[in-house]
Amino acid sequence: MRRSSRATLLSLATLTALTLGGPHESTAHGVLGHVHVTGWAIENLPPGELTDLFADPEVRDAALFGAAFPDSGYAPDTIGQGTPEARAYSEHAHWEPFVEDYIQWMRANDPPPFVTLESRRRVAFLLGVAAHGMQDEVFDTLFLDQVAERDGVSDPQGEADPGTDGFLAVDGLLRYSPDAYVPVDVLLPLFGDLDREITADTMKQGVDMLALVYLHPTRGPRLARTLHDEHAPRIPWTRDNYLERDIPGSLRAEVGPTMRYMEAVWERLHGRFDEANLVTGAYPESPRRLRSGEVGTTDSRASLVFGVGVQARRAEVSLAGASGAPAPITSRGTRWGGPGGWSRMLRVDPTAPLDPGATYTLEVAPGAELVTGTLTNLTHAHTFQVDCDDATLCPPLGDLEPWIITPPDVTSDPSADAGTSADAGDPADAGDPADAGQAPDAALPSPDSGAESDAGDTSPPAAPDPGCAAADGADPSRSPAWVLALALALVGLRPRLARPRCRSCSADAPR
Ligand SMILES: [Zn+2]
Repeated sequence: MRRSSRATLLSLATLTALTLGGPHESTAHGVLGHVHVTGWAIENLPPGELTDLFADPEVRDAALFGAAFPDSGYAPDTIGQGTPEARAYSEHAHWEPFVEDYIQWMRANDPPPFVTLESRRRVAFLLGVAAHGMQDEVFDTLFLDQVAERDGVSDPQGEADPGTDGFLAVDGLLRYSPDAYVPVDVLLPLFGDLDREITADTMKQGVDMLALVYLHPTRGPRLARTLHDEHAPRIPWTRDNYLERDIPGSLRAEVGPTMRYMEAVWERLHGRFDEANLVTGAYPESPRRLRSGEVGTTDSRASLVFGVGVQARRAEVSLAGASGAPAPITSRGTRWGGPGGWSRMLRVDPTAPLDPGATYTLEVAPGAELVTGTLTNLTHAHTFQVDCDDATLCPPLGDLEPWIITPPDVTSDPSADAGTSADAGDPADAGDPADAGQAPDAALPSPDSGAESDAGDTSPPAAPDPGCAAADGADPSRSPAWVLALALALVGLRPRLARPRCRSCSADAPR
């Protein structure tokens, strides 16, 4: 099996950089961003089989937890308990070879029509995991360079990963807190070919940390709020644009590609994927225009997102004007290369100016290699116009429908109570000097007591269910070692915990 080479992250992983620093750290957005972009994509799905699948809250939550899972193996790094094994499975789960292996496992062992709840949760988990990986590719490949360019920061990942989770919290958009669900019986054979031995216990610690801290309905938002205050002053452009649909790679701009990618994976699970639907997203997104034709700017990049892993670097890619005249470009796949070169992204940069107001077509010729082992038979094209100042040539586009990211009945900030001092015992408060003397077991409630100790929190505790890694003899309440370690870390290292960031464990991930 191909080793993955990617970069990923966690929103919680604030301490990660400190404990694991090194040349391979990379990016992606935070865990809360992954969960919410995936949830928004689910809510924007058109009526059909997938909306029927997600109508069951247990199934939907399996997808939302799946959207966090690829970063779970990095979570123990934040308390100095990370392992190469945990990082290895996390890395691998980010990429298309893993998605394809999972699809084939389901087709062989638990094929459609996915009647039982467990089958449907397995599928939903895959859809969430796949969405996470694709979102990382889009965010890293398209958004981060804009952060560097517009905000002038040298470490856009270190700012935007945690910062965007903080922005979501302060903007009152955090509303998903899925219970832990991990289909261990599916995952173990899929991780069996890695050069590290992956067991249920390998996954348990990180999964527990996600459920008990980062995705907890009050602890997660509270932690994220601290990130806003730290990062917003340094990345004002990002603060203003992280949900701007017209900005390639913004969280809102990921919703459409995420939705269509989940549809593509669903079709692949049924063995009926139509290559005509290979392109699941494009930037600029029609009818939007390429923001500039100027060489060397992020605004002049055009890109495609795919519903199946593609050997993007070996694909025959071209850009041509309306007359058919070729425009010189460089092209690349996902930012980090991807394991084995498999990518869900293709990005082109013009090497000569594009004409303002002119129309161009980006094409991928037939014969591109897919992770499914086949070659494409069709030409895949995306046509767009370069923006211009001529109102006749480039008339206003008007108000374009944004993706819905809040349900119609949401009228108040669901996390508004997250910062109340009444939450005694919450680990997010552990850095308060007044809490410094608390016993660790008081600073971090066990799963059985956490909800009760959070005054005002009416949500149930994030307890793992029988399908979880945590369930395999791994009730978090019987894990005093890591609970103690996390509590101590939260007490002593809160300023650093407030800087969750993504990272790559990839040995060959290009920067
Ligand atoms: Zn990730």
